[in-house]
Amino acid sequence: MKNRIKIYCVLWDTMPLTDSIIEIAEKNNMSVLSQVGGCFTMTSLFELFTGKMPSDILKNGMGHRCLEKYRDKKTKKIHLPWESDNINFKLSKRGWKIHLHNIPPNNCIHGDINTDSYEGGYEERYKKIKEYKKPTYSGKMMDNILIGKSSKSRKWQEREIKFIKSLSNNKIFNNTFYFIEYDHFHSFPSYTKNMGQKNKKIIRKKVNKRIIELMNSWNFDEPNSIFWFFSDHGDQEKTGKIPKAESYLSWVLFKDNTIINKIVTKTKIISIRDFTATIMKKFCYKDKKVNENKSINSFCDKDRIYFVEDGRAQVNKMESTTGIVCRVIKWKGDKPINILQVAYFKIKNKFYYHLNMLDNKGRYKNCYRVDIFDKKYKNELVELKNKLKGRFKWVK
Ligand SMILES: [Zn+2]
Repeated sequence: MKNRIKIYCVLWDTMPLTDSIIEIAEKNNMSVLSQVGGCFTMTSLFELFTGKMPSDILKNGMGHRCLEKYRDKKTKKIHLPWESDNINFKLSKRGWKIHLHNIPPNNCIHGDINTDSYEGGYEERYKKIKEYKKPTYSGKMMDNILIGKSSKSRKWQEREIKFIKSLSNNKIFNNTFYFIEYDHFHSFPSYTKNMGQKNKKIIRKKVNKRIIELMNSWNFDEPNSIFWFFSDHGDQEKTGKIPKAESYLSWVLFKDNTIINKIVTKTKIISIRDFTATIMKKFCYKDKKVNENKSINSFCDKDRIYFVEDGRAQVNKMESTTGIVCRVIKWKGDKPINILQVAYFKIKNKFYYHLNMLDNKGRYKNCYRVDIFDKKYKNELVELKNKLKGRFKWVK
């Protein structure tokens, strides 16, 4: 029988790139990439799955609650008008099996149609919520299951470890795309808030430990498998109206154990939208080309510009509120060190200029405001500003 391929696309929601994660990558011969994505889960996943920016498909972009627009009044279900743009749809059309695991309803991947996404305990998260009345999930309940002290919490973790370990032994008859989500770190701030901000350090350690435990349950040497582990954005509590790299710069761990068209990464920084381009190219599937996106095995373009789109819930729950364009302006070898950004905040109709500093592992360190009249940055900033104006219709 022909060897079937598994793609493990795993979202570690909000998770920062810790030394322990880098260690896992090194131990297992995985590439560690910096990734420009969105600033909250929905925009990031939208970009990962469609290869497009929210405003490319939705006129005014995305806010945290924008999926409500697509809820059918009769059936009360959300139907995504862009469903056929999603990579899971494109793969499924080509005979792939799609396995969603721990993906909540009201999601930009599958709307809220029930899939096997409830496997693994997320049912708990929604059980008490009156159907479709409150589309947000019960955070507190999930926080307790993911991080809490109860035996239920430990059992949940054990079940997930078992599930992960079973994956590499799963005999498959079709190529299979797994999309799996772990929210431990996303739950961390609200969990500690509920605990009165006590023992934050200890709880953080526990969260890290649980995540590493789950990651280590994978067999990274499984033949014919592709690993795309990623985080989707930075700490939601630190994301303001003008997001910095801290919010939109996340990471990917990548490994390709297949034989044909094996992907060798050639760059240390990518766009989250490169996922679609990479997979479609790898399997030689024809797809409408999005010029901004590249397969991660194409050369590193040091002049590449990246776009970010964000919708802050405090400002507008339905539309995008901020557009950002950025470019790496300083490298250490092949590693990005400084990222210059221009942001436009729609509500104030104003532009903002910042320089982000990264450490030698490609992680955000800090950020300065820069002046557009500063000779050192002026030309670059003017160019970026024009690119931003050309990219989103609502940036004026
Ligand atoms: Zn997220």
